[in-house]
Amino acid sequence: MDYLRIAVTDRCNLRCFYCMPAEGIDYLPKKELMTYEEILRATSLFRDLGVNKVRITGGEPFLRKGLINFLKELKTIKGLEKVHITTNGVLTAQYIEDLKRIGIDGVNLSIDSIDKENFKKITRRDEFDNVFSCLQKLIEADIHTKLNVVVMKGKNEHEIPAIAELAKHRNIHVRFIEEMPFNGSDYSTSDIWNHQQIIHSLESNFKTIERDITPKNDPATLYQIKGHEGKIGVIPAFSRTFCGTCNRIRMTALGTIKNCLYDDGVLDIKQLMRTGEKDESIKSELMRISMQKAQNGHQAEAARKNTKVIGESMSTIGG
Ligand code: SAM
Ligand code: SF4
Repeated sequence: MDYLRIAVTDRCNLRCFYCMPAEGIDYLPKKELMTYEEILRATSLFRDLGVNKVRITGGEPFLRKGLINFLKELKTIKGLEKVHITTNGVLTAQYIEDLKRIGIDGVNLSIDSIDKENFKKITRRDEFDNVFSCLQKLIEADIHTKLNVVVMKGKNEHEIPAIAELAKHRNIHVRFIEEMPFNGSDYSTSDIWNHQQIIHSLESNFKTIERDITPKNDPATLYQIKGHEGKIGVIPAFSRTFCGTCNRIRMTALGTIKNCLYDDGVLDIKQLMRTGEKDESIKSELMRISMQKAQNGHQAEAARKNTKVIGESMSTIGG
């Protein structure tokens, strides 16, 4: 595993339908969150074991105070080749110059609708203008940008062609993601709009769409529409057809290590740190658990110990 995803907070300023219930989730007490110092230490330990790329996510990372200083520190860790961020874009625009200066390698921006009213319905907040202006500013700043679009049956599947068009004159990736059952409740997502339906919608609207070369370990299958500057990606996050090439490990805002999005946590790194474990002993624990990674997300889900039904919100895991 060489790619670590770090949730720096479980707090969020949106309430996306697929990620949280309308009333939000019970946030963890602040002292339960990993401190920045702990996150930096954990990242260095992962780096010693071969991690060379990290993604900062949440909750909404830009809600956490001191994020920019933390990112600066993160960029000083030798051997980390790439630092990326995933954000909902509500507060992000004001920090874009800082991100550029620090040398952030790319931003994934979540935007599930380009219709202001529909955006408001899906995210339960009226923030479309801020998010769209963040997209424009990322492009102006020449920060490599990928859009994340969770496709939800009956909510935004009709917008697939219009959202795909965002890549026509912009050198961005527009990635359509299958909805997963991480909405902070035990409501299960059995009625998903799957990757085949997404591809069908793209193919019926863009006759010149073709499969493109997909980089190793990319969960998105990439497509190119002739004449479009950017690319389209489709991520079978619920069908889990890409698990064989997965190179990811996750650290939640609480410090729970997950070998797979669908497992229920395999190690509490925060506890190891707070009980005074030395670096070498934490690293051997990390090595031990990395050997136990399930072959795929279906197996990881079946092996869950705490609850068989996923009741977590993606905002605590980080996506
Ligand atoms: N708040 C930031 C954002 O929305 O980009 C970062 C955290 S969010 C949990 C990370 C990614 O997970 C987002 O792209 C979001 O769309 C995706 N996500 C959240 N819940 C999901 C779900 N149930 N199914 C698929 N993707 C989900
Ligand atoms: Fe917040 Fe991101 Fe979850 Fe939406 S997907 S509720 S923006 S954490």
